[in-house]
Amino acid sequence: MPSAPLDRATTQFSVAFGGTPDGIWSAPGRVNLIGEHTDYNGGLALPIALPQRTFAAVRIRPDKVLRMSSDGMPGGPVTIPLADVRAGSPGGWAAYVAGVFWALSEAGYAVPGADVAVASSVPVGAGLSSSAALECAVGAALSDLAGLDLLGTSGGRTELASLCQRAENDIAGAPTGGMDQLASMLGRRGHALLLDCRDATTDAVPFDLAAHGLALLVIDTRAPHALVDGQYAARRHTCQAAAMTLGVPSLREVRLEDLAGALGRLPDEVARRRVRHVVTEIGRVGSFVDAVRAGDWAAAGRLMVASHESLRDDYEVSCPELDLAVDTALGAGALGARMTGGGFGGCAIALVSADHAVQVEADVAGAFASAGFRAPEAFVATASQGAGRDRFGG
Ligand code: ADP
Ligand code: MG
Repeated sequence: MPSAPLDRATTQFSVAFGGTPDGIWSAPGRVNLIGEHTDYNGGLALPIALPQRTFAAVRIRPDKVLRMSSDGMPGGPVTIPLADVRAGSPGGWAAYVAGVFWALSEAGYAVPGADVAVASSVPVGAGLSSSAALECAVGAALSDLAGLDLLGTSGGRTELASLCQRAENDIAGAPTGGMDQLASMLGRRGHALLLDCRDATTDAVPFDLAAHGLALLVIDTRAPHALVDGQYAARRHTCQAAAMTLGVPSLREVRLEDLAGALGRLPDEVARRRVRHVVTEIGRVGSFVDAVRAGDWAAAGRLMVASHESLRDDYEVSCPELDLAVDTALGAGALGARMTGGGFGGCAIALVSADHAVQVEADVAGAFASAGFRAPEAFVATASQGAGRDRFGG
């Protein structure tokens, strides 16, 4: 069995830098239950933090230099003076680490140099937010090591999440919304996190599926997704332009009951479909939370299916692999299933009875084989804890 990522981070640290770290911090990946492409529209989303985590073993340096090493990336440590961190510098994966140092410094915090070694169990590039897990593990470490004390309150964690988002937007150059970092920072075991991205407020919603004989199956389609970045930016742009045409700060301000009128004021069919997805999806998040709180899992499942159809037909961010995973899971008896994450590949989720998860997984694998797709990978996800310190001292 491969060793746990906490141990791998320790080993990575001693191999790359020698000695032991000051401590080890970790943060989870996330999967979104419902509320897709809503975060950058000031809307609602409902992610859970995953059991899979990224670990950062960190030691402060007396100078203002940053050295970074990941056991998931080939090559020796990446070294850069903190003063040289800017958009595109460093490039590649190290931007996600260096960006957090930069964002905290921009926010006025005194940020030290450091040696950072990374190891993770979050699948990279699968839409489960390995990027936010990395940023938030580093952010948690800096909060403790620089004495910022941001982990102790949800306000502090929200601020840290926002700085991690800045790192990803401004230094790594990925124009993502705020959901991933909030989920990774504020996730709670046994709970989903209702995010209101208009004001970054959160509410924990009990989500203990096992207690109800249910399970959440995450199916990584492993579909190659080359189009993602440009398509994501295009969707954001369309939404922004539509909000401007409608004279509102964001599509969040378009109420479901006013949707028909709003659509009538948009000039083209594509914009109408995009807006219809965003506004109905925000409505579905509220309904899903009501269904979960009432224990009405059949209703929750139907809302997942409606979300998938809206993402497939109106927002046009699904792909054949995601559609096949969803259709096969539903055919195998799932209560609900949908694509999750940005789309064009990545993962689907299925709400299934716990004793049925293995069968659904096997059916999806069989359908993928018949279609000639790459073999998918699936796991059952439970709602887990957000970022924190795992160990002080090596
Ligand atoms: P996702 O967040 O869905 O996994 P992204 O494209 O947003 O996909 O982020 C993946 C990128 O984050 C990787 O290409 C790499 O640059 C960085 N990254 C994530 N996890 C690690 C890790 N354990 N070690 C080094 N870099 C990582
Ligand atoms: Mg990401």
